[in-house]
Amino acid sequence: MRNDELIALDRAHVWHPYGPMPGRTDPLVVESASGVRLRLAEPAEGRTELIDGMSSWWSAVHGYNHPVLNDAVRGQLDRMSHVMFGGLTHEPAVRLAARLVEITPEPLRHVFLSDSGSVSVEVAVKMCLQYWRSLGRPEKQRLFTWRGGYHGDTWQPMSVCDPDGGMHELWQGVLQPQVFVDAPPATYEESYAELLRTEIGKHAHTLAAVVVEPVVQGAGGMRFHDPAYLRVLREACDAHDVLLVFDEIATGFGRTGTLFAADQVAVSPDVMCLGKALTGGYLSMAATLCTSRVADGISQGEVPVLAHGPTFMGNPLASAVACASLDLLLAQDWQTEVKRIETGLREGLAPAAALPGVREARVLGAIGVVQLDHPVDMAAATRAAVREGVWLRPYRDLIYTMPPYVTSDDDLARICTAVTAAAAAG
Ligand SMILES: *Cc1c(COP(=O)(O)O)cnc(C)c1O
Repeated sequence: MRNDELIALDRAHVWHPYGPMPGRTDPLVVESASGVRLRLAEPAEGRTELIDGMSSWWSAVHGYNHPVLNDAVRGQLDRMSHVMFGGLTHEPAVRLAARLVEITPEPLRHVFLSDSGSVSVEVAVKMCLQYWRSLGRPEKQRLFTWRGGYHGDTWQPMSVCDPDGGMHELWQGVLQPQVFVDAPPATYEESYAELLRTEIGKHAHTLAAVVVEPVVQGAGGMRFHDPAYLRVLREACDAHDVLLVFDEIATGFGRTGTLFAADQVAVSPDVMCLGKALTGGYLSMAATLCTSRVADGISQGEVPVLAHGPTFMGNPLASAVACASLDLLLAQDWQTEVKRIETGLREGLAPAAALPGVREARVLGAIGVVQLDHPVDMAAATRAAVREGVWLRPYRDLIYTMPPYVTSDDDLARICTAVTAAAAAG
């Protein structure tokens, strides 16, 4: 297909994330990808290759077209690409589940595999509500969270996303009303810890669970907070009979410097959601893990099963590549790589902080964020980054990067230059 034809058809027929229909801007056409580079079908701003500063939204941690991951998919493809999971099982899914139990915080023991992060949050919420229902406490069905969060775009996760953030603002009054407190401050403040304790205590009789992203709030605003708040949440949940859910879909698999963000303070949730980097960015898959307490609670209820079963549950191709991606990650000194990227981002983004129109530049693990004091001009900022040979996807007042862990120091420096250029242009 000719490039102009492809773009015309795309604009006429194809929805893109958070996009209008028909599309108003021309997307770039990617022909192939390898390592940290996306190859474009036609040059944009004089570039045919872009360094991916986004890891395709947190997922492609090992880069593209990785020989080990390619082999894992090919090998599985020759055996079977899919088989239903009801009444049947297979080694890739079992191996993956066992592996996830092994590497996640201790009391998490049972794994529900689904096809996307949003669905894994739906499953987490269903688990928590059903747990209390089984225990004869059906009134415990609300969720508690802090503002500034993001948990996906299906209905239930939307209800715990930031209510004013923009993406789901339209649905206030339609979504299930959950209990919100202010977004967590970056540093530890006893008054905020006290607010968490008080509000959880006050609403405990109707609360099924506290649902948060630990340490980093991603798409809801790219904010970081002191991990000590997680301990406060754990203690308050224990004191008031509320379950604790950590959504580690963005933070999992090393992104913040520890394998899971919860590891920073050794706090274990009752339920944990994983996704995004789970398959190294190859295929859509997510996991909801829970403790035996939660599973046993559900099993003792009037309806002793978890009524959820996606058609593509435990997909063998996705499971196989997830296992390979995990092996690849854990076989290397990923901590050193993430630290190296953290150092590179700190140095490289420091000049951006001094630009007019920039409120703050912040870095945690392999995540770099430049926050403007005004809404970003998305088109101008994206163009400025492409001119530097880098793919970024700014939104709201944020220009940010979470590069693949395999990004070289030179490529990382170029990403930082591009973020700075985008901040200056946007
Ligand atoms: C991306 C994301 C989700 C949603 O995952 P999808 O696979 O896009 O449905 C949920 N929670 C967090 C923290 C995320 O970053």
